[in-house]
Amino acid sequence: MNRRDFLRTSALALLTVDPRPSTERAPAYSDFAQAAADPIIDIHQHLGYSGRPDAVLLAHQRAIGATTTILLPAGRPATRPSTHDGLANGLQAQALGNEACARFVRAHRNAFRFGANEVPDLDSATREIESYLKRGAVMIAEQKFGVECDSPEMQKIYALAGAHDVPVLMHWQFTMYNFGFERFHTMLEKFPRVKFLGHAQTWWASIDRNHTDQTVLYPKGPVTPGGLTDRYLSDYPNMYGDLAAGSGLNALTRDEDFTRDFLTRHRHKLLFGSDCDDREGGGPTCLGAQIIATIRRLAANPEIERQLLHDNAKRVFRL
Ligand SMILES: [Zn+2]
Ligand SMILES: [Zn+2]
Repeated sequence: MNRRDFLRTSALALLTVDPRPSTERAPAYSDFAQAAADPIIDIHQHLGYSGRPDAVLLAHQRAIGATTTILLPAGRPATRPSTHDGLANGLQAQALGNEACARFVRAHRNAFRFGANEVPDLDSATREIESYLKRGAVMIAEQKFGVECDSPEMQKIYALAGAHDVPVLMHWQFTMYNFGFERFHTMLEKFPRVKFLGHAQTWWASIDRNHTDQTVLYPKGPVTPGGLTDRYLSDYPNMYGDLAAGSGLNALTRDEDFTRDFLTRHRHKLLFGSDCDDREGGGPTCLGAQIIATIRRLAANPEIERQLLHDNAKRVFRL
């Protein structure tokens, strides 16, 4: 019997000796047992996401079973090429910024952490980010701006991440956010101590060696191993993958035989994130719940499932 089954069986044993009517106490016990046996770290959520109220976010995270959630702030609103003249403000999702996230986390310290962020080509970018790293931010994220991935301003951010020993999470989206994915190995080599988390369409589409048309953001069908993303994960100890969002779910579900092997090969490198803006916390609108269910279904064994849903994030973010 593995640890999870043991804890579940123990929880059931508790239920059977509970003298109180099961209708009163059973849900509380099973919720508790589930959270204790299967803590989940969600490394990718947003505050104010598509206008979602805080109370709904809290209920959403409880519903998907996230015991710890990292909130990724937007940079400040700015009208300039790197924000596509303001289109990318709020991470193109109405996400709130550093101060709102830091304040929310102070009130919900038991279950939430936050990242620090800024529009990278503002003069004040590293000063702003550093001030929130000093206040406890656990990563620099979400970097989702129209800049070259090896530009001087991005390199300043990588150097700051190195100085504070925090990861950088990047949204890779062809012609929109973080340009030059095919050159990123130069940054992985130049900043070997910085942990980079890859996320979004171009990152996940590039698991496939035959992904040649970069304008296709959600490719379907069988995956040929050896894509650029697969190679970055294999070849660079500082490259990690964020399983969040529609792009992550698409990559996990398009070729399940590939996925089983991919999850095993990169079991120390992949981290669960939800990045969903729904208000349900389950069902067909909730990406996070579907990603968790897919990880549970396709992980080769319970140990790998635990690594992807919890252990890797605990280690990478020192939670
Ligand atoms: Zn994103
Ligand atoms: Zn959701």
